[in-house]
Amino acid sequence: MCEFCHKHGEGKKWYLQAKNYSEDLLSDLKRREFIKGFLEAPEKIAGAVKKMEDLEKAPAIVRKVLTWRISSKMKKVHFGQVVPIEEIEQIFGFVTSISRLACICRQTTIGSEQRYCYGISMAPKGGAMLQLVREIDANYLKGPNAIGIESVTKEEALAKFRGYEQEGLCHTVWTFVTPFIMGICNCDRSDCLAMRMTVTHKIPVMFRAEYIASSDPDLCAGCRDCMRVCQFGAIAYSAGQEKIKIDPRRCYGCGICRSVCLHEAISLKDRAAMPLVANLWL
Ligand code: SF4
Ligand code: SF4
Repeated sequence: MCEFCHKHGEGKKWYLQAKNYSEDLLSDLKRREFIKGFLEAPEKIAGAVKKMEDLEKAPAIVRKVLTWRISSKMKKVHFGQVVPIEEIEQIFGFVTSISRLACICRQTTIGSEQRYCYGISMAPKGGAMLQLVREIDANYLKGPNAIGIESVTKEEALAKFRGYEQEGLCHTVWTFVTPFIMGICNCDRSDCLAMRMTVTHKIPVMFRAEYIASSDPDLCAGCRDCMRVCQFGAIAYSAGQEKIKIDPRRCYGCGICRSVCLHEAISLKDRAAMPLVANLWL
């Protein structure tokens, strides 16, 4: 269990607790202001990219202190966790509405509307979450060239998520002033700033999943399809054995490799069962 499970999940997986998606949490005015400020200003996110790059050049001690500070601050306001598809399905099972919207990261990194983000709510028809998002004054969310905010059924959302796995995108849940969870994103390392921050720049803003991927050498055909989709560089190919090997220290447990393996050679195991990485969350 990660530290959020202890703090916000009563020792269970924090992102599977319905109370963390509640309208009550969204009624907090400070939280509402944070959400508006976050989604209204892609240019602030662009500024963060520059700061990440600058931090790379800082002396090691400065970098260490600032990384710790940034990560600690983000844990309080906007932190994520990788979640595999079966648990996304569980979340869709208890939330009462799902909305699809444009991704603020992609707006910043590639300058176009990419609808990989989902707003979730415990209230019918999106409740206060959707009302708040609709109030946000940001072109990338509602026009003139954006499609706007779509309501989707659980089945439609799940079918989209399964498709994203084939594109190599990994699912992540996000807090908006922790522990309130309002969004689920589909991320890659090139365009998603949280993944860039965490994996490329080593400034953690999301936890690894509760799982670790494991491959069965007897089933692996050595096709390397899994290697092509792993966003975390956790899979290596052994030319001698003509099989892949997964490095548990690099694996984030997203399960995307599993979804593209036609030989069913990859499964997800509980992180807790593997002592080497049982407490490796960042
Ligand atoms: S996709 Fe499956 S069969 Fe292909 S290399 Fe990966 S584990 Fe082996
Ligand atoms: S090896 Fe780990 S990090 Fe890479 S795709 Fe598979 S589950 Fe995700």
